[in-house]
Amino acid sequence: MRRGIFRKLLSNLFSPVRKALAPPPDEKGARGENKIAGILRSYCKPPHERVVNDVILMDTQTGRSSQIDHILICARGVFVIETKNYSGMVCGSDRQREWTQVLAYGNTKHRFLSPVVQNATHVRLVRHILQEKFPVYGLVVFAQGNIEHIQSACVCAPYSVPERICTLSAGKAALTAAELDKIHSRILLHKNSYGVTKQEHMAHIRKLQQDLSSGICPRCGKPLALRHGKYGSFYGCSAYPKCKFTKPVR
Ligand SMILES: [Zn+2]
Repeated sequence: MRRGIFRKLLSNLFSPVRKALAPPPDEKGARGENKIAGILRSYCKPPHERVVNDVILMDTQTGRSSQIDHILICARGVFVIETKNYSGMVCGSDRQREWTQVLAYGNTKHRFLSPVVQNATHVRLVRHILQEKFPVYGLVVFAQGNIEHIQSACVCAPYSVPERICTLSAGKAALTAAELDKIHSRILLHKNSYGVTKQEHMAHIRKLQQDLSSGICPRCGKPLALRHGKYGSFYGCSAYPKCKFTKPVR
């Protein structure tokens, strides 16, 4: 018990120092992405298996851009990979839309959209540009390996990426060299064809977050209103039923 208090005190005492020494979030994220890109590259058998990093695709249904960290094109299928560089303890499962990050020995909690849900959109966009029925799978890799409290077959630590690729694609027919080349060229064709740069995509995301915090629906621009439903209170778009955007009350 005493030990816990002492640890908490120490942690609070050093947290400004740790913050000052820690790399900025963008840089940290990029480091995580580089690490996973390296693992995926070493998994590939050239010349037909490949990794395409940093693909920005436009969702023609919603008009929103999505940034995909990596697409692995290998004999076992097409793997759409999202890298997360969260530290601390992360809790979540396939049944939850929002996951929780716990930091500073439980002092700080941060909720975020499930990366499995986020990556499902990416998988849909990749399926759409490939047109043909190729096997496409979604995989979320936690760069720091902190997945003990996550229940999802689509999430793994860096060291288990090859094993997870195997499990996800079990029993499915392998892609031929010609198919791999075809998929690669389709992805390259769409990679930046929308003229959206990574900076523009990030600016777009920041604007959506600003809208949300100022009570504006990020989907249609109408004000959000507090609603009370069967499962508790939430924010819903005032343009409902035309717009079905909702956001939980924190
Ligand atoms: Zn709306």
